[in-house]
Amino acid sequence: MKARRVMAILISVVFMLTGCADNSSNNSSAEVVQSEPATTNDVKQEYQADVVVIGAGGAGMSAAIKASDAGASVVILEKMNYAGGNTTRAEGGMNAAETSYQKALGIEDTVETMIKDTMKGGKEINDPELVKYLAENSAETIDWLTSLGMDVSDVGQGAGATFPRMHRAADGSKIGGVLIPKLMENLEKRNVRILYKMKAVELIKDGDFVAGVIAEDEDGNKLTFKANAVVNAAGGFGANEAMYAEYRPDLKGFETTNHPGATGDGIVLAEALGAATVDMDKIQTNPTVEVTTQTVISETVRGKGAIFVNQEGKRFISEMLTRDVLSAEILKQNGKFAYLIFDQRVMDSMAALQEDYEKGLVTKGEDVADLAQALGLDATVLADTIASWNTAVANNKDTQFERNTGMDEDLSLAPYYAIKVSPAVHHTMGGIKINTLTQVIDRSGNPIQGLFAAGEVTGGVHGANRLGGNAVADIMVFGTQAGVESSKFALSKGKLELILPEAKQAVIPSTPGNFKDGVYEGTAQGKEGDIKVHVEIKAGNIVNIEIVELHETAAIFDGVKRELLPKIIEKQSTDVDAVSGATLSSEGVLQAVDQALASAK
Ligand code: ADP
Repeated sequence: MKARRVMAILISVVFMLTGCADNSSNNSSAEVVQSEPATTNDVKQEYQADVVVIGAGGAGMSAAIKASDAGASVVILEKMNYAGGNTTRAEGGMNAAETSYQKALGIEDTVETMIKDTMKGGKEINDPELVKYLAENSAETIDWLTSLGMDVSDVGQGAGATFPRMHRAADGSKIGGVLIPKLMENLEKRNVRILYKMKAVELIKDGDFVAGVIAEDEDGNKLTFKANAVVNAAGGFGANEAMYAEYRPDLKGFETTNHPGATGDGIVLAEALGAATVDMDKIQTNPTVEVTTQTVISETVRGKGAIFVNQEGKRFISEMLTRDVLSAEILKQNGKFAYLIFDQRVMDSMAALQEDYEKGLVTKGEDVADLAQALGLDATVLADTIASWNTAVANNKDTQFERNTGMDEDLSLAPYYAIKVSPAVHHTMGGIKINTLTQVIDRSGNPIQGLFAAGEVTGGVHGANRLGGNAVADIMVFGTQAGVESSKFALSKGKLELILPEAKQAVIPSTPGNFKDGVYEGTAQGKEGDIKVHVEIKAGNIVNIEIVELHETAAIFDGVKRELLPKIIEKQSTDVDAVSGATLSSEGVLQAVDQALASAK
């Protein structure tokens, strides 16, 4: 502890002497040193921004963009070495009502219907004010996403929705894979930094006001980020088995679809300041999680016509019922799994399914009998099941299970496909209590001044069960609102100039190296495809590595760019460790650089 304290003070001294913190002036450094944080903790005041955001998921990033656009200085603290959180894994789309895209398609949805559907899906225990705000502001938020450069014009049917209102990526990709890179691009445009491996460990108060965050860096140093407002967007707790099993003992031992950072830190931090929580035991399992990789298969597949069959080759439920009902029913089947069955038409309509196929998650049969054989099912029973389903589609009447949506077209275009799915912990509906201004509410029912929260860390929007498409709606609608309200609050208290730790830079050796000067190209296989690099050699040393072709997930590759490339330059060698959580991408880069260096010897 003592050593850390000395280290923190030393860092402060360095900043005082050099004034080298990003976007800062010597004046502001002096100001910071004078104003000691109002905390009992022994950490030295070092950095500051008008608004500090905890968590670089969809909610945190959209809050940061909005706060920056409102004139606030902003920083995002992210505990992982990549951005995107659970948002990266979002599959389907964003629910919104009365949007221009719906109108263009002649869909007569209303805000009122979206409210009713969301309340019904949530078993009427949702916070009605939050649901009303969600639905009323959903169309405007779609326009905002469009203004950031996203095309979510493909409107589809989600389970539990009366009308098609799930706004999906126009190219059929998984929404998270499109949303996160776009938000990151927009943060970069505004010079809003994400500080990685920076874990928020405590919220600081100054009297009645939240005054900043204490965070721990990768070396265990504690840093103070002073702020006039804090946005807690640290996500849910679906990757914290001890925590979800505490609230729901029946989920002990369940797999999860969540990224490893979803450990509920944000809830613990807010509770320590007296925040109230709601619906903590309301934990959603997603019914369609591929059994070997825990990849979520979007309900859009069912919306486009897919059916479930069990090991007997038979349907057993209306596939468009809510997630809780479907999960429970799948667990009642033999082996506790189901096959999601679809045809070439469905496959052709979804880039996401083609990705899943390439990853080996999908079984293919040239015809129904071939598929049945591949799955070990009775071919006659499976053929009968598909034939009866096609009759139900033709008559627009599912006499067996009364499914009444996602049956516009039948399953008659061979080849046929199947994905083996079972339920896994997916979304924690409960969390910190907020109002429609995204202020965090304490256990006496009053707002905690200066503390805002949005996204999966909060509770109340989804009630007992979240509808597909409402997670992205939640993080975007309330994330943007948190950005607007936190910056308004922060700026009303005065302006804090941005003072941040320096970004790490690669150190190029000062002595000449042994490579031949020039620019060399190398290509190797990454996780998602080829990675091509250009390696620049000057005075015999590697001085720059540029990625010129890339198919990796942007939010994960961000860590490789930030960490691996500087390491190679510093060591002048590819004999460096892969970035944890991005091993295959790291190896791709290392091999591509090796290939380039082979020509530079
Ligand atoms: P949402 O969907 O609400 O935006 P996400 O799961 O997408 O939630 O993002 C939450 C982000 O918060 C994740 O990237 C996660 O790693 C990050 N996070 C969680 N706990 C902390 C913490 N203590 N400090 C900083 N970041 C955190």
